[in-house]
Amino acid sequence: MSETKKTVPCRYCKHEVEKGIRRCPYCGTHNPSMNVKQAFVWTVSAILFLYLLAFVLQAVKG
Ligand SMILES: [Zn+2]
Repeated sequence: MSETKKTVPCRYCKHEVEKGIRRCPYCGTHNPSMNVKQAFVWTVSAILFLYLLAFVLQAVKG
């Protein structure tokens, strides 16, 4: 538990990269710490949010 920064394997080249880093310094992949599962959860969350927003706006309109 002496690590100050969390590292995760790059989803493309598997090198250890800083978590949340925007670009892998080894292979140049964007968001190397974001895996497919996380991307899926983000997408589903965004769709649910937009759906709820549309529902609320419709309810406000009457
Ligand atoms: Zn990489």
